[in-house]
Amino acid sequence: MTSQTLVEQFRQDIGDVSSTVDERQLRQKSHDFHWYSPVLTPQLQDCLADVLVQLRSEEEIAAVVVAAVKHRIPLTVRGGGTGNYGQSVPLKGGVLVDMTGFNKVTAVESGSIRVQAGAVIGAALEAALASGQQLMMIVQTDDLWITANFKETQLARMHPGQLVEVAVDALHEKLSGTVESMPAVTGSRTSVLPPENATGNYVKVIQRMPVRIRLNPGQKDLGKLRPGMSVEPKVYVE
Ligand SMILES: Cc1cc2nc3c(=O)[nH]c(=O)nc-3n(C[C@H](O)[C@H](O)[C@H](O)COP(=O)(O)OP(=O)(O)OC[C@H]3O[C@@H](n4cnc5c(N)ncnc54)[C@H](O)[C@@H]3O)c2cc1C
Repeated sequence: MTSQTLVEQFRQDIGDVSSTVDERQLRQKSHDFHWYSPVLTPQLQDCLADVLVQLRSEEEIAAVVVAAVKHRIPLTVRGGGTGNYGQSVPLKGGVLVDMTGFNKVTAVESGSIRVQAGAVIGAALEAALASGQQLMMIVQTDDLWITANFKETQLARMHPGQLVEVAVDALHEKLSGTVESMPAVTGSRTSVLPPENATGNYVKVIQRMPVRIRLNPGQKDLGKLRPGMSVEPKVYVE
């Protein structure tokens, strides 16, 4: 819990940014759907923010963060508050930041869309449809991996942690990665119609097995990768 004096100083520092200490609103916004859980409910039901701010621009976000740091007040960010595990509950009071007003669709391009952090997926979908496109899925592009379908005969000396050099057809540069996990099953076994080799003349076919390669973070061209692109990984097994 933050002292009233500190909260007042904080509110003065953020100037025109919309803020309230109205208890009804604080109580309403300090909780998400954690009440689904009989374990979390008694732990979180009394948690309450000391002040609620509603943000509409990057300048306002900066002003709130600067003031919170200056007064060493904890800050909890919240979107729609539909998380089920108390993620947006202010455990130690302080500032609750409501991002739902920061919700503009800022750019619709061919194949991609850019929205502010508080935008709901429905708004992104509407903007995409209005431009004649569909929002089929949301692709995370900052944490990337490759599923490399190696032949089973190539796996004997492969194991997690090994360095991988990845040539990407769409890029001129090679990327680096790390073997993250070894396969649990062959690709054919998980296909819609797995082959059944027990009948007729049996011809042995070398199976492909999916090895997950995590691309090392911080590389310049990672942002250019898209799901489904062709790559050639080379694993250093020594
Ligand atoms: C009935 C029901 C059905 C659901 N079904 C699904 C489902 O099918 N699939 C699914 O994935 N989830 C589902 N959920 C969970 C929940 O709806 C999603 O996780 C939703 O994406 C949470 O978004 P939110 O804006 O409400 O986040 P919040 O609950 O407001 O916040 C979630 C977390 O993100 C942080 N956060 C919020 N905004 C920001 C920001 N701008 N910057 C940094 N951190 C931020 C918060 O601090 C918190 O830690 C369901 C929930 C309910 C109640």
